[in-house]
Amino acid sequence: MERIATLEREIAVLRQKLNEKEKELYDLRQDWTPFYTNVPDGADTNQPVQLSKWAIERYSRQILLSSIGANGQAKLCGARVLVVGAGGLGCPAALYLAAAGVGEIGIVDYDTVDLTNLHRQVLHGEGDQGLSKVHSAANALRRINSRVKVTPYNTQLAPHNAMDIVNKYDVLLDCSDNPPARYMLNDAAQLSRIPLVSGSALKMEGQLTVYGYRANKNPNEKDPSYVGPCYRCLFPTPPPPEAVGSCSAHGVAGPVPGVIGVLQALEAIKLIVGHTHEQLLVGRMILFDGDDMTFRTVKLRSRSLDCAACSATRTITRLVDYEVFCKAQGREKDLELSILPPENRINPKELSMLLSSDQRHLLVDVRNESEFGMCSIGGAANHPIDGFAVKSSGLIAEMVRQGHAVTFICRRGNDSQIAAQLVLDQLDPGLREHVKDLVGGLHAWSKEIDHNFPIY
Ligand SMILES: [Zn+2]
Repeated sequence: MERIATLEREIAVLRQKLNEKEKELYDLRQDWTPFYTNVPDGADTNQPVQLSKWAIERYSRQILLSSIGANGQAKLCGARVLVVGAGGLGCPAALYLAAAGVGEIGIVDYDTVDLTNLHRQVLHGEGDQGLSKVHSAANALRRINSRVKVTPYNTQLAPHNAMDIVNKYDVLLDCSDNPPARYMLNDAAQLSRIPLVSGSALKMEGQLTVYGYRANKNPNEKDPSYVGPCYRCLFPTPPPPEAVGSCSAHGVAGPVPGVIGVLQALEAIKLIVGHTHEQLLVGRMILFDGDDMTFRTVKLRSRSLDCAACSATRTITRLVDYEVFCKAQGREKDLELSILPPENRINPKELSMLLSSDQRHLLVDVRNESEFGMCSIGGAANHPIDGFAVKSSGLIAEMVRQGHAVTFICRRGNDSQIAAQLVLDQLDPGLREHVKDLVGGLHAWSKEIDHNFPIY
């Protein structure tokens, strides 16, 4: 064990040095050998360009495609793409954009690399834990292609900073995971008139489409007035917060965001080289189902004539407060409900003492069955929060009436309060003191009482 710890420390030092050297090489490479030899302004025209020797050799396999060619490669080398989210979607998307030679890649995320990210966020490795995701991602992207300019933004994209960042780019990739971010990115893309390649993935399912496409920037389009629908054209009002799932709560199979993220990169590449809206996922959405391995493409409603973001009568002329608009928090990790009064809450130390002295104390774990199967406190009974009101609340209220004390537990101390409240509502005031919930849930239990209990 000691040898393992020593090696891990030595490797961390070497990796830090390697990152510094690669950054130095990357900085030097930014200043020499342009990707073309004859057209200083040629990156965004359809005139023939003569690519540099290194560019031809490096990108030859995609230049061979008639739909890309030398001109398409020159456009890629001159393009600027912003990837919002350095997670399950953003990692594969940014990886393929860097490999394809997209000239400038911006990557935005406020989070740090965590062990639970690694099964799907493939730019990060074990040695990157604790590092900011954008710096970890930037290191990996520079290693793949030192010719591209990678700009990490270690911040939460918010109304006060989003436009300054978005305005520097030609294409926006939504690799985020929550409704406030989706609406903000849509509005930012509409305000700056750039297309938004939107992806999402949860459990075994993924979705992909392109919002806010404008034909007037593409000389290959027959009708330059064509504009594709935006996110708000289809979803003018946000979903109720309780209907929104998340990977940390519901899980996700790693390859699912992998598939969607890679396809986001492909759509961005097609947008840059000049595919028309019929060839792009404009007004269409791909629905991927990994369980039965099917891709379905569904036609979306066309642009809404009274859309708040993209119509002639639009009301959104600047970014607003999206957490208020969606009644949800963008930073899911910080979500801490406070439903129960203090007398119905118990901290891990108090619960630990209670359990060792009172054998009749009931522990009710309200996580779902697969979470309970993964790890649980000894002696706890599983009553999943889904269906709790119908199946379990009356039963547990009856047990309290018969003299049992009950503590509800869940992962973070939110669902446990919801379940406890459902039972409290059925009890006379004199019995309510016997129902509690564990503050901070199993995460707090692991930190304060049982360090061997897995945090996931
Ligand atoms: Zn719209």
